Amino acid sequence: MGEYKKPKTAEEFEQNFSQIKPLMDASMAYYESSRCLFCYDAPCVTACPTGIDIPLFIRQINNKNTKGAAKTIYDSNYFGNACGKVCPTEVLCEGACVYNHRDAKPIEIGRLQSYATQDAMQKEITLYQPAPANGKKVAIIGAGPAGIACACELSLLGYEVHIFEAKSQPSGLTLYGVAPYKITNEEILQEVEYLQNQFGFKICFNERVDSEKLVELEKNYQAIFLGIGLGKTRFPFPMEKEMPNVIGATEIIEQLKVNHLTTNLGDQVIVIGGGNTAMDAASEAARLGAKHVTLAYRRSKEEMGAYEFEYDLAKAVGVQGVFNAQPLEIIGTDQAEAVRFVRTELVDGNVRPIEGSEFTIACDAVIFATGQSKQVDFLNKIKDLELDDKGKIKVKEASFQTTNPMYFAGGDAVNGGAEVVNAAADGKQAALGIHDFLIA
Ligand SMILES: Cc1cc2nc3c(=O)[nH]c(=O)nc-3n(C[C@H](O)[C@H](O)[C@H](O)COP(=O)(O)OP(=O)(O)OC[C@H]3O[C@@H](n4cnc5c(N)ncnc54)[C@H](O)[C@@H]3O)c2cc1C
Ligand code: SF4
Repeated sequence: MGEYKKPKTAEEFEQNFSQIKPLMDASMAYYESSRCLFCYDAPCVTACPTGIDIPLFIRQINNKNTKGAAKTIYDSNYFGNACGKVCPTEVLCEGACVYNHRDAKPIEIGRLQSYATQDAMQKEITLYQPAPANGKKVAIIGAGPAGIACACELSLLGYEVHIFEAKSQPSGLTLYGVAPYKITNEEILQEVEYLQNQFGFKICFNERVDSEKLVELEKNYQAIFLGIGLGKTRFPFPMEKEMPNVIGATEIIEQLKVNHLTTNLGDQVIVIGGGNTAMDAASEAARLGAKHVTLAYRRSKEEMGAYEFEYDLAKAVGVQGVFNAQPLEIIGTDQAEAVRFVRTELVDGNVRPIEGSEFTIACDAVIFATGQSKQVDFLNKIKDLELDDKGKIKVKEASFQTTNPMYFAGGDAVNGGAEVVNAAADGKQAALGIHDFLIA
């Protein structure tokens, strides 16, 4: 039975979606930073995809040098504040902390990171200035973490950078996807504004780049970075007809993130999938006031792709898992009224339906969290750009240069869907690749 009431006001939404990693105050940060053992060859640094010098920034916090700590963080990761809150730290930096071997709580690296960067943002401390213009222009497609990180680094190297973004706000899935109990929209936008004020790159909103625009960009810019992320939800079977209460997870989460109070899923929600997005969608449905949220996955619980802590978060708000259950059809005429499933078993590593084991679960809404499609149609418009067999852009490892030398790419469009920190790391590294290419 769900424990949340449907939020009707901004305050109620804030309560239902209260932050799981709230901001530390100065004394908490001082105490936590004093627990760090400042390991030589610190394993947390190796575990961070952006390689932040974690022991250094923690020592700086401990020495009350919060500005220095923020600079250490941003020098490696332009999404320092967002990552402190949204990174799966349990399997990255904090998961590698040596305290785990001593049966003690790991250092709260993510929260310390957000403490230092929030302080710098709130005080509007200038940490960077763009280099004098070098006369070269780079276009970036997509203002997600990959695109913005790339823009920051290029500005630091003296490039004039223009980002073209299809949506009306920056930050990609950090804003339109990440669960509201991890970070608020205000905080995400605050960080982009903080970066833009220092680096000066320009973002053109509501500008979806199409084949015509590509021609223009190729003519007017010396290099182009593709930070376009992924596409819409990929449904596991063709829908005979569209039903308003059968929805893709990324689409419904976007709706919820853009307008907190208008998403109504009803009392009984079925979420189909076993990845992190499925966990988020299920948690969010429960926090929106659904009384029964069922998470249905076609394999066993142990085979779910989601991190264990994400499933724990969903269970903590009343989500019930149904495993080895494969959806067969949506029942209903104009609206989904139930989903018919069949039980499955694993035979030689393959999921097989068990004959005669069909069952139905009634619902007011069905959310498919079964992966996002790739933007293959758009990418195929770029001459000589090669994709792998899954539709991911092929790039050279160190430079992120694609098979069309003018184009570089990073983030979800290259890795097929990872985390904000991976996109931020790729964007920065690709900027260095672009620099090498343009000064060669
Ligand atoms: C529901 C959900 C929850 C998530 N939760 C977390 C989490 O808790 N922690 C975490 O670290 N990661 C999380 N992620 C993953 C993370 O958000 C992504 O890995 C990251 O945002 C990828 O960054 P990106 O810059 O590659 O792409 P995106 O963030 O997708 O940004 C791509 C941008 O390009 C724009 N674009 C696309 N095509 C065009 C075009 N033709 N012209 C102009 N603009 C275009 C898009 O509008 C978008 O703004 C989540 C993802 C989802 C879907
Ligand atoms: S960016 Fe993420 S993984 Fe890296 S130190 Fe910060 S919280 Fe940990």
